[in-house]
Amino acid sequence: MKKHNFYAGPSILPDSTIKNTADAVLNFAGTGLSVMEVSHRGKEFVAVMDEAQALFKELLNIPDDYEVLFLGGGASTQFCMVPYNLMKKKAAYLNTGAWAAKALKEAKFFGEVVEVASSKEANYNYIPKNYEVPADSDYFHITTNNTIYGTEIKEDLDVNVPLVADMSSDIFSRPVDVSKYAIIYGGAQKNLAPAGVAFVIVKKDILGKTGRDIPTMLDYRTHADKGSMFNTPPVLPVFAALQTLKWLKEQGGVAAMQKKNEEKAGLLYDEIDRNKLFKGTAAKEDRSLMNICFVMNDEFAELEKEFLDFATIRGMIGIKGHRSVGGFRASTYNALPYESVKALVETMQEFEKKH
Ligand code: PMP
Repeated sequence: MKKHNFYAGPSILPDSTIKNTADAVLNFAGTGLSVMEVSHRGKEFVAVMDEAQALFKELLNIPDDYEVLFLGGGASTQFCMVPYNLMKKKAAYLNTGAWAAKALKEAKFFGEVVEVASSKEANYNYIPKNYEVPADSDYFHITTNNTIYGTEIKEDLDVNVPLVADMSSDIFSRPVDVSKYAIIYGGAQKNLAPAGVAFVIVKKDILGKTGRDIPTMLDYRTHADKGSMFNTPPVLPVFAALQTLKWLKEQGGVAAMQKKNEEKAGLLYDEIDRNKLFKGTAAKEDRSLMNICFVMNDEFAELEKEFLDFATIRGMIGIKGHRSVGGFRASTYNALPYESVKALVETMQEFEKKH
């Protein structure tokens, strides 16, 4: 039976990413050796790193004064690297979820942190609007897609201080005006590659201004100066990322992805709104295109476990909601085909007929 992979992360990757990476694990670039057992400074891997950085820049139309870094430590290490590298005295954070709150917590090690707004009181089911960012903030941090709660900031904000965004779970899902950001970062394990690498898009002239000594590995300049080869990069995830970037280009790039993502999410949200058994949890105007959260309508609450089992035996994998929201979460990342969303919608309709 076909498995439909709705996991939130690590999550579905393009078939070509899996296949090409599997091939390179056995025989990398005709070397007769595995990509896991050759020098990262050999010409074959250097070519992979160079092409991955170039394609990353091409697909997101990244201006020349930005650097793309591939680093270990996941997105969570960026929660401390951002303030380490940017905060002189004060930073502003928008608290839209558990990951945003974790980023905010790390910033407190480095100075004064202003939480400009929070939707915590509503279990993060919307994106706060109409807040003010103090003009003397060294930067303003947002989490564009809140993986757990299914809310998303779908446009590039205009703010009067450097903007920093965690795009772990919506990178490459839509075009982004990178020039509006000082830093965009994220873990790779949703729309890009297996876990083990984080990407950082950093505007070079924002660095080196805090007056603080920064440990070598945590200083973005170290990695920018050495093309992400200061130390051994996560070679296998970077190789896989390159395969996904090639796939993205073949698919027509991020604008084509956005169109497909809107179609997929639209199909599922329409069914959630139509079907008497279910309701969405996120405010409609803030609904994520990547993580679609829904629960049983109150009068059908006792059917939750039954639906999960019903869907699982029909091949729906990974739709159990995060424990802090409950219900269901269908992640509809770039690589998830329209057919999988259709199969889930049909499953929901079949279940409705039964009740
Ligand atoms: N930010 C967001 C929005 C996430 O969804 C996640 C992981 N699910 C993280 C940060 C943490 O990423 P990592 O596990 O790579 O540290």
